[in-house]
Amino acid sequence: MKLIDGKAVSEELKNSLKQDVLEYKKKTGRVPHLAAILVGDNPASKAYVGNKVRACEHVGFRSTLVKLEDTVSQEQLMDEIKKLNEDPDIDGFIVQLPLPKHIIENQVTLAIDPKKDVDGFHPVNFGRMAQGMPAFLPATPYGILLLLKRYNIETAGKHVVVVGRSNIVGTPISILLSRKSRSGDATVTLAHSRTRDLPNIVRQGDIVIAAIGIPGFITEDMIKQGAVVIDVGINRVEDEGSLSGSRLVGDVDFESVKGGCSYITPVPGGVGPMTVIGLLLNTFKSANKEIYS
Ligand code: NAD
Repeated sequence: MKLIDGKAVSEELKNSLKQDVLEYKKKTGRVPHLAAILVGDNPASKAYVGNKVRACEHVGFRSTLVKLEDTVSQEQLMDEIKKLNEDPDIDGFIVQLPLPKHIIENQVTLAIDPKKDVDGFHPVNFGRMAQGMPAFLPATPYGILLLLKRYNIETAGKHVVVVGRSNIVGTPISILLSRKSRSGDATVTLAHSRTRDLPNIVRQGDIVIAAIGIPGFITEDMIKQGAVVIDVGINRVEDEGSLSGSRLVGDVDFESVKGGCSYITPVPGGVGPMTVIGLLLNTFKSANKEIYS
């Protein structure tokens, strides 16, 4: 079994991006600028946004954090989005999810200018992605593609089983891997909560991608000998042995699965850091007008 080290790959990519940003600054006299809207004080969301801001500093981007109370109205949030859409210095921005229950998430997604939608959630980017046109790819699937490429894991002709059909991970990664392209050409099965005989289906996967949100859901008996296992899940579980009383685990039962597979991503340190680099690369593409000229 070989460990797929997302932390190391993301550091390599960040260092290379840092050089590209220096060149960009020399050429244009400015630096790429990413903004994030954070609503409320959900500790996980604060940690994710904090990571993104630190990553911006690392590569030499400017970052702006817009913090809003969790009592913010739909209208106030829309106003903030409008300001960022219209600010010529902002190359891209994200609205950190989840949002409070009274906010209509679809309206938020639709309000973001697709040209600044560096999370790749707007239907314009999603549709362009599905049709193989230039698009901002959703950051986590983008990060998974980068990991597969970095480890020379062939996808053409392989059977990929994706478990979980969310709009931000499962569905887009299943589209990307089945597209006619160098990073795709796989035969993809998208499994979910209504799939019958799931273990038998997962066992057919040459590559298994778990994006479910249930700790240790994928167990040894579901993994074919030699399969590649990509664990997207980030779940906090109690751990009396740790100082904080809890720790992060994935959707894959790492200890039981690791022996039989060829490659596996750990949690933490696998897909998580790759999501951040996916976002930074999208922002750099936006600054260079690579997707929408
Ligand atoms: P989600 O929570 O929106 O949806 C979960 C999916 O799992 C659904 O499509 C559902 O059909 C499927 N599912 C639920 N129970 C199932 C069952 N018993 N059998 C089969 N399928 C089942 O998903 P999400 O937002 O993609 O998040 C999934 C996990 O990935 C979470 O742990 C989340 O924290 C994590 N995540 C990690 C990153 C990262 O950067 N690593 C990014 C996004 C999400």
